[in-house]
Amino acid sequence: MPVPIPGNPLGYTLVYAIESPRGPVLIDAGWNHPDAWEALSDGFAALGIDVADVYGVVVTHFHPDHAGLAGQVREVSGAWIAMHEADAAIVTLMRGLADDEHRDFQAEMLRRAGAEGLDVSVAVAERPVPPAQPDRTLRDGDIVDVPGRGLRAIHTPGHTPGHLCLRLEDRLFTGDHVLPDITPHVGIYPYDRTDVDPLGDFLKSLEKVAEQGPLTALPAHEWIFPDVGARALQIRHHHEERLHTLATLLTSSGEPLTIWEIAAMMTWNRAWDDLSPMLRGLAAGEAAAHLRTLEARGEIRRVSGVDPVRFQALDS
Ligand SMILES: [Zn+2]
Repeated sequence: MPVPIPGNPLGYTLVYAIESPRGPVLIDAGWNHPDAWEALSDGFAALGIDVADVYGVVVTHFHPDHAGLAGQVREVSGAWIAMHEADAAIVTLMRGLADDEHRDFQAEMLRRAGAEGLDVSVAVAERPVPPAQPDRTLRDGDIVDVPGRGLRAIHTPGHTPGHLCLRLEDRLFTGDHVLPDITPHVGIYPYDRTDVDPLGDFLKSLEKVAEQGPLTALPAHEWIFPDVGARALQIRHHHEERLHTLATLLTSSGEPLTIWEIAAMMTWNRAWDDLSPMLRGLAAGEAAAHLRTLEARGEIRRVSGVDPVRFQALDS
């Protein structure tokens, strides 16, 4: 069921329903908006499903275009909501954070990245309502409670720390992890963290999916496509090329550069100056994730004791 994401170029989230003797179980639920709820309700009607009969909602990751409507489905049906424990922890954190704390966190993160002259109030997107707290958490390899179907959770961190793909026989629900044409956003927040490596995780998760073989992919955006493994390796190749280009850029610069300076030198789908402040913030997150992976691999270094943080090639 395509569920619209109002005002977002992605267009829609694909919500799937799996039949079971206890009632249908949804994979994702869509954005929390009246138009989205109407589309979801129409989708149910077309399938002959009564929303009140929904038995559970498995959320691939905590982002609002996936988890947003899960709470409303639960209210109507009493369904359980399940997500990976790492994303459930983020939901707890989000629900406990006041709007001004959220804004201060973002402002400080942008400052430490060297984002001078950026209007933080514009760069900080309006915060969506935090998703509903799940009733159940999942881990890698868990069989999800869809009676008689053997739906298995596969932990694929990268796009979020707790992203899940779900395997049903020869099909794989891929959430945002593997999409047929675009690649998901992989960022690091705050930008200067050194305790995680989301892009490194993402590349490993792509291999993990490729090992599942040529399954049919049922993604959360765009369209259903064959051979998820081939597409996963293609996306991995794309990031390896980007890592290589970035390492070369730092070598040729010689100078230590801020995350912001580096992001502005990288190639995006639009010129840097044409990106909105919010998109520049996301681009910096993506640049930072690539820098962190190169650092973790020992290919570049972080200059110690400078604020804003700077990176340079090993030999400069
Ligand atoms: Zn999404």
